Amino acid sequence: MRERIRVSTQANKVEASDGVLRASTGKALIIDGKRVSEIVLAETAEKVKALAASGLKPGLAVVLAGDDPASHVYVKAKGKAAESCGFYSVQHNLPATVSELEVLKLVEELNGDPSIHGILVQLPLPKGIDSARVLNAISPSKDVDGFHPVNVGLLGVGETDKALVPCTPAGSMVLIERAAAALGFEVSGCNALVLGRSNIVGKPMAQLLLAQNATVTIAHSKSRDLPGLVGKADLLVAAVGRPNMVPGSWIKEGALVIDVGINRIPGEGVDASGKPKTRLVGDVNYDEALARAGAITPVPGGVGPMTIAMLMANTLKAAQRIPRRADPLTDATFGGS
Ligand code: NAP
Repeated sequence: MRERIRVSTQANKVEASDGVLRASTGKALIIDGKRVSEIVLAETAEKVKALAASGLKPGLAVVLAGDDPASHVYVKAKGKAAESCGFYSVQHNLPATVSELEVLKLVEELNGDPSIHGILVQLPLPKGIDSARVLNAISPSKDVDGFHPVNVGLLGVGETDKALVPCTPAGSMVLIERAAAALGFEVSGCNALVLGRSNIVGKPMAQLLLAQNATVTIAHSKSRDLPGLVGKADLLVAAVGRPNMVPGSWIKEGALVIDVGINRIPGEGVDASGKPKTRLVGDVNYDEALARAGAITPVPGGVGPMTIAMLMANTLKAAQRIPRRADPLTDATFGGS
């Protein structure tokens, strides 16, 4: 009897979630990041259409240096998403031999190009180029990756609306908000644990949760008693980069789990070319977590698709705020071009 009540409650939550949640074989509902990313992209495309009436077309420039195969795949996906949103999209392919000065010159040109509202420099850059120097040269108002110290600072002081927020934590936050709304989960006041403290995921994630009034703990490789910390978390965001590091037994019953980790591990058998197969897993042991969590993002198909969608949302945000003299993000204020 208890089981029937639980199942029907779960079905109601799925029903109420606009496709964001799916039932699983276990207790947890699955947060469908692919579906949410499609919603974000469709909303962005709608807003772009509306902007066209005022003669504004958001422009995204992607700078790719060298021939890292994974970077080529990411950049292609970003270009495709930009076109699907109706953006003006350009890609600058630079050879692996490009100098730091040449990359900086291109960034400078893009900073001054009024048809470009978002600049993304794909990492890693070729050896010998100082990535921080290049990223810091991007105008804060066009920094759609959200890595520039000005945007980091705005997020740090709680100005989340003004900041361009790094795409992966921003996308994770959208998943949290959508899932929380469907589940009746209160982010405000909840115990949130962010596992990982990188500048691109862990720290901005913690800031976003703090801005939503969660009680935030950040854990890292020197933290003591990870099982105890995870066990107290109503909301867990895992961003470590260690396959299946969090076993299901650590997770608090009913917790909301966002697994940012993307880890490639050996799979079963060989592919068509005879190479051993591999597969992607998160930082959380997904199969075990299904038996305890209230809702969880899968890997792949959870946070991953949100990153590109939020890059588009950030480019639209940047275009909608074309710098004005009084804008705190104008280059005049921050010493850019
Ligand atoms: P990162 O820069 O390597 O940071 C990893 C963090 O995990 C560090 O803070 C590290 O602590 C902590 N850590 C490492 N081992 C640990 C342990 N045994 N116990 C507790 N904490 C530990 O990685 P990242 O760039 O944040 O990425 C994290 C994961 O997210 C990776 O799997 C990455 O592929 C994935 N990711 C996914 C997306 C996406 O689009 N979905 C985007 C970005 C990243 P210390 O600071 O003490 O070293």
